[in-house]
Amino acid sequence: MEISLADTIFDVVVLGGGPAGYTFAIRASQYGLKTALIDANDRLGGTCLLWGCIPTKSMLFSAELWDHLKHADRYGIDVAAPVLNWKGVLARKDDVITRHTKGLDFLMKKNKITAIKGYGRLTGPAKDGVHTIEVKTADGKTDTVKAKNVVLATGSDARMLPGYQADETILTNYEILKIDQMPKSLVVIGSGAVGVEFASIFKSFGAEVTVLEMLPRVVPVEDEDISKELLRLYKKRGIEVNLSVKDTKIEKNKDGALVTFTDANGKVQTKQAEKVLVAVGRAPRTYDIGLDKVKITPDRGFIMTNEWMETTEPGIFAIGDIVGGLPQLAHVGAMAGLVVAARLAGRYAKPINRARIPGCTYTDPQIASVGLTEAQAKEKGYQVKVGKFPFVGNSKATIVDAHDGFVKVVADAKYGEILGVHIIGPYATEIIAEAVTALELEATVEEMMFTIHAHPTVAEALLDGFSSVEGMPINV
Ligand SMILES: Cc1cc2nc3c(=O)[nH]c(=O)nc-3n(C[C@H](O)[C@H](O)[C@H](O)COP(=O)(O)OP(=O)(O)OC[C@H]3O[C@@H](n4cnc5c(N)ncnc54)[C@H](O)[C@@H]3O)c2cc1C
Repeated sequence: MEISLADTIFDVVVLGGGPAGYTFAIRASQYGLKTALIDANDRLGGTCLLWGCIPTKSMLFSAELWDHLKHADRYGIDVAAPVLNWKGVLARKDDVITRHTKGLDFLMKKNKITAIKGYGRLTGPAKDGVHTIEVKTADGKTDTVKAKNVVLATGSDARMLPGYQADETILTNYEILKIDQMPKSLVVIGSGAVGVEFASIFKSFGAEVTVLEMLPRVVPVEDEDISKELLRLYKKRGIEVNLSVKDTKIEKNKDGALVTFTDANGKVQTKQAEKVLVAVGRAPRTYDIGLDKVKITPDRGFIMTNEWMETTEPGIFAIGDIVGGLPQLAHVGAMAGLVVAARLAGRYAKPINRARIPGCTYTDPQIASVGLTEAQAKEKGYQVKVGKFPFVGNSKATIVDAHDGFVKVVADAKYGEILGVHIIGPYATEIIAEAVTALELEATVEEMMFTIHAHPTVAEALLDGFSSVEGMPINV
């Protein structure tokens, strides 16, 4: 660490170098603000780059290739029996991570951001307009960083079932990325984005996979039709799904663990598996960062902010997974960072609109959605008109051998406003970008029906989806 650190007064210091923190720091610097970033880890990138979005998608890509290789003859390619190299899958994932952590180090330098390795804590309110952060570095030394503004971006940790601890059998998203052998069986507790993602990856690689969900449907935040379709397709793939389960208990034994649960009919069931993944949500990392020294009282751990991400302590902002009331997604944290940077620089900024946040679930098939579900739109009193187009009518879907799923468009019958778009099927997480833009620009169904989509593309399913609202899809 530079000796002059304590004498420098930064315009802003950000605590946490995950997607929220590093995106903020880069944009703040681009605006000309003197910026410091503190991260406790030895590598930048946070959960997203090191243990979340990026490693899982790298493994999912390997799983997709593996799925295709298993029946390569279908595509006119004869291969000798393919062999899965699990260590190679993990090495490839690590290589992707390394490339991007190096990229972040480069971006810190390029943007002249002072990147500090250490654990930071608030020490109290600003004195004469300057905040002081205490930083403990890995070698046990303590330093201080002074800044006119502070942005908190300390992220989240995986939640564990009460009474259990993660180890080599009971895993969270962190441990599962390091298991040295492909397990023959896996029980996944929780069917949110993280749970179904790993269920899909491990099923592709040949594990016997069982999903336990306490709510009555999988991917419970999605539109009900999406949940039904995923359940149908998981059953088709041989993934066992138990819904409305209660009283889940894990008992470790020499072969892994015995998971006991009460099923939807009130019957006690057991499942033996080599590994158990607990994917029951993420807890904000707001303990031990000095919140007690300032006027910020977390609500069940989350920091509440206004639309400009300002906390109740002047000069302190919060972004990313620690913020209450926003989905814990990398792109939400990153956008919150861009909003704060623009505000601090006195430039044009627009608050995050919750109704225009895309949510993506990287299973096979992929799920992506934006805006209101059909049920939410009805609850809000809209006269709802729905269009649904199945991928079976899309020629590119046939080419990529992925016919399952559909596009569902929820629209307001009166003015044709698009209220929500829900996709399950090929490239859903890519083509959702069009729907987000349509909602952002307040496009109507009719306008989208006259928007030219290149052929042959999976995105054409959206054109047919919008046209389905008026009962006029071309391809079905
Ligand atoms: C398995 C999995 C898959 C996911 N997939 C996706 C996906 O596909 N798309 C998506 O949008 N989201 C995904 N997410 C969610 C995404 O990872 C998070 O929303 C995102 O990482 C949150 O960013 P953040 O910057 O708020 O926090 P984090 O990424 O958690 O980063 C916080 C950083 O703060 C540092 N830190 C914490 N406390 C201190 C301190 N006191 N001092 C200094 N540094 C500190 C940590 O070291 C860390 O680097 C996934 C999550 C998981 C677990």
